[in-house]
Amino acid sequence: MSDMPADLLAHADAAKGFMPADEGALLHRVAVERAAHGPVLEVGTYCGKSAIYLGAAVRQARRSGSPATVAFTVDHHRGSEENQAGWEHHDASLVDPESGLMDTLPVFRRTIQRAGLEGEVVALVGRSTTLSAHWRTPLSLLFIDGGHAEEHAHNDYSGWASWVMPGGYLVIHDVFERPEDGGQAPYHVWQRALAGGAFAEVGTVGSMRVLRRDSGDAGDPVG
Ligand code: SAH
Ligand code: MG
Repeated sequence: MSDMPADLLAHADAAKGFMPADEGALLHRVAVERAAHGPVLEVGTYCGKSAIYLGAAVRQARRSGSPATVAFTVDHHRGSEENQAGWEHHDASLVDPESGLMDTLPVFRRTIQRAGLEGEVVALVGRSTTLSAHWRTPLSLLFIDGGHAEEHAHNDYSGWASWVMPGGYLVIHDVFERPEDGGQAPYHVWQRALAGGAFAEVGTVGSMRVLRRDSGDAGDPVG
């Protein structure tokens, strides 16, 4: 069971997004384990639902003596292909009427403010590849839940996974082994991570996979 404080759990439940409670509980649990060692980073903020689980873990780690730890969350806030008008996961209430573009940033801010986690969760607004190209900080945990097209999912792995520190976790969401259950790109990224030899699987709930980096230095290529 999750040891998330009840108020934060209620905020996570109420938030708009794509994170089942049992998978969120696993994300929270592994983030609590690691957050004392360095920042955690999520790719795929959307409206901040999963970020609440990460922010809760950061708060816990800070109270246990790691005041500098933080959760970063990366998104351009324009939605993935599957979020656009006419697609399966479109939500018309998230369209900015002036530009006609998706804009999840205001909802994210509201979600995190309501949860009281503005100090723990920091938004990085931009493309994953733009941000990862300049990233230089070892991560205690990387959560990949961004675009599910092959190109984007693999870019997220190529751009960020090498920053997972030894002993750190790589968490991948929406891993479906059977095509009839969902898109295959996160599954392919999961296979790639295991084939590279730097990561080994340590846990799974639903479509969430938790891998641990066993050796090497953060920043070294991971395959
Ligand atoms: N973790 C969220 C769900 C994320 S949905 C939750 O708990 O509900 C995937 C998100 O990835 C979308 O908000 C989309 O805008 C973002 N995204 C897709 N491709 C991206 C890219 N190349 N760079 C940055 N963000 C991207
Ligand atoms: Mg997901």
